[in-house]
Amino acid sequence: MLAGVLGFPVAHSRSPQMHNAAFEALGLDWRYVRLPVPPELFEETVRALPGSDYGGANVTIPHKRAALALADERSDAAAAIGAANTLTFAGGSIRAENTDAGGLLDALGDSPSGKRALVLGAGGAGRAAAYALRDAGGDVAVWNRTPARARELAADLGVAAAENSDPAGFDLLVNTTSVGLDGRGGLDDLGLAGTAAPETVVDLVYGASETPVCAWAREGGARVVDGVEVLVRQGALSFRIWTGVEPPLDVMRAAARR
Ligand code: NAP
Repeated sequence: MLAGVLGFPVAHSRSPQMHNAAFEALGLDWRYVRLPVPPELFEETVRALPGSDYGGANVTIPHKRAALALADERSDAAAAIGAANTLTFAGGSIRAENTDAGGLLDALGDSPSGKRALVLGAGGAGRAAAYALRDAGGDVAVWNRTPARARELAADLGVAAAENSDPAGFDLLVNTTSVGLDGRGGLDDLGLAGTAAPETVVDLVYGASETPVCAWAREGGARVVDGVEVLVRQGALSFRIWTGVEPPLDVMRAAARR
């Protein structure tokens, strides 16, 4: 059986090494490949995958909304978030789910119930984070560089739109912006320079070296959850959906960090 990650570009993805290590460790006859697909070929490619022995696929930038739109069935989380990162092909139908949401909660470890959470960013990852934290009982506010997008997200998902990105008064901060990706941008872009880190900080961004948000959080004494841990947890949820088998988290984590 095959699985893969649909994106454009997708060369940077650590998902193949992570999933292939897990398949190998469990002796499963599965293989996970990169599927670089431009937007204009996305739908016809996805529709061809079930006939080519694919059991499922992850979806990344820029296809997450399109993946939700073409599916025959959608999980409640994917429908509410408006984006899917996991497709499953079974019995001729395409099911869309969003494991970015559950993966964030698993990576967080502690329940956000009753906690005040500030989400930075209002793109696909910001929507998944806000949905997950609110659904788990968190008191969520969203800040975004373009305020209109934060207001739209807030109205869609029933959370607050924050006036600024100062984390004072919050228990938890989740960076879902692309600041820090490939070394681009820094704390100034997020209005975090000179602010105190809250108790827990999650940064969805990861790269070859520590991101600016993780460095700021660590120096401020916060508990830090990095983007690789979130990647591992969302991947583990996708793995379980496709195979029905408990994912080997340590194997996946070691492979993703290699
Ligand atoms: P997206 O839909 O393109 O959204 C990007 C967000 O970043 C928007 O809120 C955008 O604000 C903001 N942004 C971009 N440049 C900025 C800057 N210089 N200053 C301030 N804000 C800036 O992307 P996405 O799908 O949500 O993904 C966001 C990041 O999360 C990516 O780096 C992605 O790799 C990462 N991610 C990681 C995982 C994981 O498993 N670790 C999972 C999903 C996503 P505007 O609205 O103002 O443009």
